[in-house]
This record gives sequence, C-alpha cells and structure tokens, in this order.
Amino acid sequence: MHDLSRGGARGTTRPPSRKRPYVDFARPSISEDEIRAVTDCLRSGWLTTGPVAHRFETDFATYMGGLDSVAVNSATAGLHLALACADVGPGDAVLTTTYTFTATAEVARYVGAELVLVDIDPATMNMDVGQTVSILESRPDVAAVIPVHFAGQPCDMDPIAAAARNRDAVVIEDAAHALPARYRGRLVGTLGDFGVFSFYATKPLATGEGGMVTTSAESDAARLRLLGRHGIEADAFARYAGSGPSWYYEVVEAGFKYNLMDPVAAIGIEQLKRIDGFQRRREEIADRYHAAFAGLPLRTPYVEDGTDLHAWHLYVIQLDLADLAIDRDAFIVELDRRGVGTSVHFIPLHVHPYWRDRYGFKPEEFPSAMSVYECAVSLPIYPDMSDGDVEHVIEAVTDVCEHAT
Ligand SMILES: *Cc1c(COP(=O)(O)O)cnc(C)c1O
Repeated sequence: MHDLSRGGARGTTRPPSRKRPYVDFARPSISEDEIRAVTDCLRSGWLTTGPVAHRFETDFATYMGGLDSVAVNSATAGLHLALACADVGPGDAVLTTTYTFTATAEVARYVGAELVLVDIDPATMNMDVGQTVSILESRPDVAAVIPVHFAGQPCDMDPIAAAARNRDAVVIEDAAHALPARYRGRLVGTLGDFGVFSFYATKPLATGEGGMVTTSAESDAARLRLLGRHGIEADAFARYAGSGPSWYYEVVEAGFKYNLMDPVAAIGIEQLKRIDGFQRRREEIADRYHAAFAGLPLRTPYVEDGTDLHAWHLYVIQLDLADLAIDRDAFIVELDRRGVGTSVHFIPLHVHPYWRDRYGFKPEEFPSAMSVYECAVSLPIYPDMSDGDVEHVIEAVTDVCEHAT
C-alpha cells in the first residue's frame, strides 16, 4: 500500500512496468481476529462510540501502565485537543521540529498560535536538543513543545522536559511513530504532559484512521473527553439519572467532534494485543538490514543510548551521495524498477509553501534537516514482510549501490 498522504509518495504514480514481485512500502497486518472483531461489532448494531471504544481506552491505559487514555479519530485531532486542553492560543507559540509531518505543526494554527521550528540532530533525525532547550529558555511566548519521536526512536526527553518545566511550557509528545518505544526504561507517551499516538493505516498500530491521547493528570483526561465530544458535559446526564429525563445534556464549551467509532476501536483492541510481536518483527528486519548494508555507501539508522526500545516504524537510510553516481530521486526510481516501494520522510516543513511563506523560512536556516532530506530513503519495514521480502529489498539496495558507484 502506498503512503499517499505522507512524505514524498504523495501524488506519485507507479510506472506501468512495475516488476513483480513488488515489495510495497507499507502494509497493515490484519488477521482474522481483527476481521471477526469488526463483524461482531457491526452485528451488535452499535456503530458509533460506545462500549468497544471504551474497552479500547481501558486496554490502552493498562498497556501504558495505568495512564489515562482518550480515544480520538486521528492523531491530528489528539494533538489539537492537547493544545486546546492546555489553553494554548493566540499570542502563544508552539515549538517543534521541521522534520515532521505537517499535522504536528498545523494544530498550532488551529488554536491561533504561531509556529517555531528547530533543526534536527542529523544522526537520530530527532529535534536538536540544544536548540530546543535554548529556545525554551529565551522565548517566553513558547507555551508548548511537541517533540516528535522520529521513525519510532524516542527523543532525548529528559533535558527537553526539564527546560519546559522551568518555563511552565506544556510538553506534548508526538508519538505517532513510536508505539511501543521506550526511553530510559519508560514508555513514550508517559514522558510529557500529553502523549499522542496515531493509528493511521501505515502506523505501528493501524486501524485505518484513529488515535489516542494519554495524560497523567485526571483533570486533563476529563477535559480532553469534554472537548472531543462537542463540549457536552456527561455529568449533566448523571446528575439527572433516575430523577430526570434521559435526553438531557449540557453544552459547556464549543468543542470538537473527535470521537473514535466502535468498529474502528475493535480493530485497535486486536492490534494492541499484537503490538509487542509487531515490534519484535520490525526489529528483526532492522537488524537484518543493519548487517546487510554495512559495507554500502549509505548510513543505516543510528540508535541512541537512551533508546531502550525502538518502535522501528520507519527504516531511513541516508545515502552517501559523494560515493554514488546518482542522486536520491534516481535511487528511488532504481529501487522501484527492482520491485521495491519506498518513501521519503520528511519533506521538511520549512520548505513547504505555506510554512515557508508564512514565516519567511530559508532552507539554509535548517542545514541538518536539508542535508538529511537530500539523501534520505525510507525502506519497507513492517511485520507482514516475509524473509523473502526482506532479502528482496536487500538485494535491490545492494544492486543499485553497485551499479551506481
Ligand atoms: C501520521 C503522523 C501524524 C498524524 O497522524 P493522523 O492519525 O493521520 O492524524 C502526526 N505526526 C506524525 C509525525 C505523523 O507521522
């Protein structure tokens, strides 16, 4: 399946002469259990948010060590709710990395806040910690920081969270890539004030569309639920239950409609049972790639000391362009000819017309992001890849390198 809305695959079409067999860039792992869970749910007659979504939330909360978990219909919705819950708005700025999907940044604009970007550490492709800390220390308008755990590797959260705490800035982890990554013994999603997960079709836990927001503060969870459900106060019904009409409710804020429907949550419950196995298979594939690519003119992903568990949502190689006769774009065409689907993560935000023009960003303001972007290729890595698929990718990458040096 092509990752249509993410990275460089957008708008591209495959040439008609695609070689078979073709290893797709991404594919969800859907077993008979997910299929049965959805049909059971459809047969129950309950289509929208109900008992199954509630069960998904409690299962997820248990997985996260008891952290309150609120199901939403996308990570974008979740990021928006977290900012709204923290009362980030006009006059405030939101700090994140240029090396992410636009959803991480656009939520700042949803609440009327401005965007501040930092460059990346070219080794991990995560936000540059030194720049992040210095902006938190020098810009009082920065009310929230959104670290993105790129590819499933946790950001170095301790210094970021400490700098944010000193300033009373809220920390929202964009953990869209990162279930079930661990940083210094702790699961991502438990490291900031809010954690936001995506269940988009290509993500580590895939329901098609969907997401989850985790938070350690009980009052925040209640407010997330309220805001995600049209600002309708559930307690109003409870107050009247038994004594008053069952149709009664009260709207206390202009909220949003961000609820996750039961048949989608049913997929999520089954996927959550399998997530540890998914991660192990992804890691196995990553290890196979590391070993096979060791002598080639490219850099394999760098894993930091603080990364106790990498989610391996993406496997991003960086080509040594000086040692290759072709550029990244041609490399991708050559892989496609050899039956391998790829993508590029990410086109940095600051080169997209909207962000570039609104803030007057220049490419050279983010040199590490630009140099990584020029040479980055995301290879297929997902649990349903067979050993043969993995070998096929390795042979194709090796062959392209040999013919291009
Ligand atoms: C996929 C993604 C999102 C958005 O997730 P949705 O569930 O599609 O809204 C946000 N941030 C990053 C880094 C992503 O890759």
